[in-house]
Amino acid sequence: MTAIDWTRATKYFLLWDFLVGFKLGMKYFVRPKATLNYPHEKGYLSPRFRGEHALRRYPSGEERCIACKLCEAICPAQAITIDAEPREDGSRRTVRYDIDMTKCIYCGYCQEACPVDAIVEGPNFEFATETREELFYDKEKLLENGAIWEAEIARNLELDAPYR
Ligand code: SF4
Ligand code: SF4
Repeated sequence: MTAIDWTRATKYFLLWDFLVGFKLGMKYFVRPKATLNYPHEKGYLSPRFRGEHALRRYPSGEERCIACKLCEAICPAQAITIDAEPREDGSRRTVRYDIDMTKCIYCGYCQEACPVDAIVEGPNFEFATETREELFYDKEKLLENGAIWEAEIARNLELDAPYR
């Protein structure tokens, strides 16, 4: 005849495992949540976060980019393609500014190289697409990004300025 394991039997009848699990559940129920209810909640982003690219304008509406091509030269992924022509007033501006976002490695070198803070990596990280073609950005798209995100970009550049 097998001896009865009274400890085990008592735990079984008192629903001990359930009580231990319930206690653990309640402990984490009242603690601050470690997870976020994305996309309704979003976490903190550093001012240095390198997200989707944007081309900026001055408050007057003039394009910041002076077509120096430093960003194109420094890009390790060769993702940037620029064509430039002088305008009638003699100023030099791009007529083509493309970024192949499928090549980009988000290193931020283009932003670092730019002498006039024209090309920047903004805070937007929600730009997934269904096709590759949608990730071939042209100047129009980049300027549009700049218009949408200018307030956040300007604030981030200001916050980061003391450390540059
Ligand atoms: S972030 Fe880096 S890889 Fe991407 S476009 Fe700029 S320089 Fe090129
Ligand atoms: S974005 Fe900046 S670095 Fe690139 S061509 Fe324009 S001014 Fe030069």
